[in-house]
Amino acid sequence: MTQLPLIDCHCHLERRQLAHGAGALRAMLDRCRQQQVQAMVVSVDCSAGRPEHDIDALGAIFDAHGVQLGVSLGFMPPTRSQDLASAPERQEAAVAVFRSLAGHPRVVGLGEVGLDYYWPVVALVNEGQLQALPSGDPPPPTAAWDLPDFQRYRGLQLRVFRRWIALAHELELPLVIHERLAHADTVELLAEGPLAASRVMFHCFGAGPQEAQAAAARGSIVSIPSSIVVRERYREVAAATPLEAMVIETDSPYHSPIVGLWKRARQAALDQVALQDVPKKRREQAVNQARDLNLNTALELDLPGLVFEGQRDGAPWRLTALEHLRSSKARYLNEPTFVRFAAREIAELQGLDLARVQGSLTRQARAFFGL
Ligand SMILES: [Zn+2]
Repeated sequence: MTQLPLIDCHCHLERRQLAHGAGALRAMLDRCRQQQVQAMVVSVDCSAGRPEHDIDALGAIFDAHGVQLGVSLGFMPPTRSQDLASAPERQEAAVAVFRSLAGHPRVVGLGEVGLDYYWPVVALVNEGQLQALPSGDPPPPTAAWDLPDFQRYRGLQLRVFRRWIALAHELELPLVIHERLAHADTVELLAEGPLAASRVMFHCFGAGPQEAQAAAARGSIVSIPSSIVVRERYREVAAATPLEAMVIETDSPYHSPIVGLWKRARQAALDQVALQDVPKKRREQAVNQARDLNLNTALELDLPGLVFEGQRDGAPWRLTALEHLRSSKARYLNEPTFVRFAAREIAELQGLDLARVQGSLTRQARAFFGL
């Protein structure tokens, strides 16, 4: 089987990974090197001022493990009432940080920044101003449009985002977009310029296949997350978008694909055992065995030989991916090696050779971020 190098175009590092001598980070980077995840673009949030991460120290750790680090400077859109008043001032502070760091050799992008109407809508639902969102992927919040409380968020977010678009152009950095329930406004703002559409990447592409095709036609990049393995909407987008317009990401540590793979493996196991003549007393055990086998097959397909290692109370531990991911806590953690799931899914959906898809995704990522 051909495993070519891949790049995780959008992820985050957690405090846990940076604490305690960065042991968890080092172990994760070892897994990346072993699974040929060559580089990652870490989004660093500057909504509260200078980044927590020391970019030079971080870069040295990455170098020591043979994984390339790119940093993208982000500012989450204001979505909570307590954010509203402080956002303009915090943005000014972040602009100064971005200007001072833009020339740093590790800094390869501006974002995630953008528009997020999801949380303001949720708040309005909780306050009883709006009806509950439909389950699944909700449509744009047209019902919220007439509400002054919603328009306050929207107006502020548009002002903040417009500034980021101009700054990305000024600093000559590609723009990494976070967008939730706000695709039309996002596209409209980007069309005002001055940033070229080819310098825009939509992280975790949030709209549908037609919008993805339109973005690709403008020359923008559509990023598909590893959670595609269990999210139908991403599958529709990945099937419809030209390969040359796509990159992949994990958005780790969020949105672990393992939880969904686990459920799928268990469902398949239930179906398998139902067809067998297993006594009732032994049924749960048989289901668990079949589930583990199914999950292990899925893991070995994309991440052959993946092991998790670490230290606890001074003693080393070492687990296979299956053993590790059996713990429900571990299952909810995503990581850059899981980007491999996205590449395979795209290859299958497009009916293309996996090696060709991997090559294209990596070339595209390198070209976009200049890695
Ligand atoms: Zn993110």
